[in-house]
Amino acid sequence: MGLTERVRRLRHRAELLAAILVLLSIPVLWSLFHQTDPAAVRPVARPVTQARVLPQAPAAAQTPLDGTVEADREKPRAGGCDDPKILVDRAHALPADYAPDDLVSLPGLGVPILGQDALLRREAAGNLERLVASAAAAGEELTVASAYRSYTDQRASYARLVSIYGKGADKTSAPPGHSQHQLGTAVDFTNAAVGYQVRRSFGRTGTAQWLTLHAHEYGFVMAYPLGGETKTGYGWEPWHYRYVGTDNARRIRESKLGLQGFLLREGVLPRC
Ligand SMILES: [Zn+2]
Repeated sequence: MGLTERVRRLRHRAELLAAILVLLSIPVLWSLFHQTDPAAVRPVARPVTQARVLPQAPAAAQTPLDGTVEADREKPRAGGCDDPKILVDRAHALPADYAPDDLVSLPGLGVPILGQDALLRREAAGNLERLVASAAAAGEELTVASAYRSYTDQRASYARLVSIYGKGADKTSAPPGHSQHQLGTAVDFTNAAVGYQVRRSFGRTGTAQWLTLHAHEYGFVMAYPLGGETKTGYGWEPWHYRYVGTDNARRIRESKLGLQGFLLREGVLPRC
């Protein structure tokens, strides 16, 4: 074999080797090229992420948002107008057809009243009976001047006051639907010291002081305190008490929020 032939063969081998190397490098280059392409990576990665994330993500998103929290948020509101924490004020009204279904007669429980009859919801009436008895034992007379008033009663009473005072009627009376008396848990007190009238001088009696100290023990709170007009929309009504239950009454007293502030924070809007 001549030198030329040997060189030719060597070149042929080198070409073969180069061709083999090129062929071998194609898959490597292919994979290198495609790994840098995000579009090529995603189809590989997606099934993995989907398999891990998808079954958990909707569950994690739905449980707090669409399940527990929303349901809990709606629950107290679903309690409707019978809830002791219902917010009824200048801005929040009861429907015309709302009337509590557990009203009982106060004279039947031995609670002194003005007029023929006065009604209050059963639990409130029972606690009022104990409150009045406890006040009497302390030498303080309490007579109920007004208790439950239906929407129709309130409409008539409000119309009468408007015919006398015009717009000034709003200072002492609520338009129909906006009165706590429609709840069947509010009472107006009076006694002999104020001539059995409903008037502010009641606030200066020993009986009013006794109420300030003890009404909460029976679940009652003064709804329209002195100096609270900007919050409640009503001037001072030392005679008007509302039953909210002993636990709520104690919390209102301790928080110093007043009934209106307490109900704005955690009350129930009328949806009944
Ligand atoms: Zn009242």
